Amino acid sequence: HRISLVRENALTKLREFRIIYKKLLEEEEVKWRERGHGVKPDIAAFNIFMERFSADRGDMRYDGSIPGVRIGDVFNSTMELSILGIHRAQSLLVDHIKKKDGTCLAVSVVSYAQPSASDSLDFLLHVGSVAATCDKKLKGTDAALKESMDTDTPVRVIHALVTELGDACRPRQLTSYVYGGLYMVEKFHREKTTGVQYVNTFHLRRMAEQQQIDIQVLKTKKPESFDGTFTVDISGGLDKAPISAINSVSNEYLMTFRYISQIQYPLKYRPDPPSGCDCVGGCSVSQKCACSVKNGGEFPYNDFGENKEVKPLIYECGSSCKCPPSCRNRVSQHGTKFRLQVFKTNSMGWGVRTLDFIPSGSFVCEYIGEVMLDEEAQKRKNDEYLFAIGSNYYDVPDWKADIEKIPALQNGPSEDDEIHFAVDALNQGNFARFINHSCTPNIYPQNVLHDHDNISMPHIMFFASDDIPPLKELSYDYHYEIDKVYDSDGNIKMKPCFCGSIECTGRLY
Ligand code: SAM
Repeated sequence: HRISLVRENALTKLREFRIIYKKLLEEEEVKWRERGHGVKPDIAAFNIFMERFSADRGDMRYDGSIPGVRIGDVFNSTMELSILGIHRAQSLLVDHIKKKDGTCLAVSVVSYAQPSASDSLDFLLHVGSVAATCDKKLKGTDAALKESMDTDTPVRVIHALVTELGDACRPRQLTSYVYGGLYMVEKFHREKTTGVQYVNTFHLRRMAEQQQIDIQVLKTKKPESFDGTFTVDISGGLDKAPISAINSVSNEYLMTFRYISQIQYPLKYRPDPPSGCDCVGGCSVSQKCACSVKNGGEFPYNDFGENKEVKPLIYECGSSCKCPPSCRNRVSQHGTKFRLQVFKTNSMGWGVRTLDFIPSGSFVCEYIGEVMLDEEAQKRKNDEYLFAIGSNYYDVPDWKADIEKIPALQNGPSEDDEIHFAVDALNQGNFARFINHSCTPNIYPQNVLHDHDNISMPHIMFFASDDIPPLKELSYDYHYEIDKVYDSDGNIKMKPCFCGSIECTGRLY
């Protein structure tokens, strides 16, 4: 199962590269036509892809076989080889890694030899650089190949297969790249090319017990083509960082909804601005900052702006405070700083994942939508994007001690608290509406106030409960009570949970 998961991950990455790259290429071609000069569209699109989407390259393995890549896999371009880590040096025939002692080790070779049907692939010659006869020392990729030979390090071989297309008037070539397996560098020899120059030729032998491939069959094999959909920024520039959306499962685009980046309060219940602190030079507990008092005599975030555990309520400094925007008590109000992406999951509809590493305790995003009375929200036909707010302060036994510290919560629920609100992101909202449930979640909702003091309508701010690696789906616990969710006719609703966690309870509700 693990092997197939690794394979699935590699194929998904390749498929997504193709979808995103196609879209970026189209955009870059338009720009290229308008400008008439500049970076070639394919290179520009590749660079954009690498910058925006390849956050996990740090973990990539570069020597030996690449997890999830099989012998005989066919690729469209050297860019595809590069994004999967099969061969990163797109303009060189030999890719290498630097060892701790500063020497270079060759890890892959692209071979342009065009083998015929009768040729064996067990043996390959790689012609290295031309050097002056007086210069005996191997340099660059030749030295790296020699190092692999001396250290018995296998190298990956990729066969670049060239097919002639077009006709005599307009000849065209198509190159496809086939992963051929691991080879050992056996030896090298020097051949004089002219009286003053020689060339290094390396002998590579395919390692035993690897799957055989038939180049002639592979030559006719078209790389799989994926359609899929990609949107560069679903927020249309409203969020500070673009929120892309990708579907590599089907050709469906996101359903339409009005994207908003600020919570919408109902006219009748629009809250008043809060009372603020007077800390012109910056807030501190010792000087009894009014906001720290509201938080029970402390600031909720650590020096890195992290919230290490969920609290009943956090008062951030806000619009009425005299402190600067850099105040340590302003975190979630500054918005998302990580690159997040909406993507189509296999079994839970759309979901949200991170392209960046998110350290535990970091602010991730706000659940944005229209605030409405809970009773009004319950009347809506589609309740999938509802988030009940401001009603959970006294429900969590672990919060008792914290509640006693926070002045606004000390007197327990009042009559006013009988008015409950919900945030509905069905028609208007941000990308957080796509975050799915998991029985082992990695983010949690935190009640936060900063632009008003009404505890029945706090902002729902998500924080990371764990370190979250790039490309991991974000999820929180929806906390549905099983057999307590009803349809409009009063029947119990049931929905299976597909979170895939080993601790999954099996039901969403
Ligand atoms: N996946 C949703 C979409 O495509 O719009 C985004 C999340 S939406 C707030 C909540 C809905 O997503 C749920 O009603 C359910 O249909 C689906 N969902 C979320 N988490 C799920 C899970 N763990 N298992 C099954 N379905 C899930």
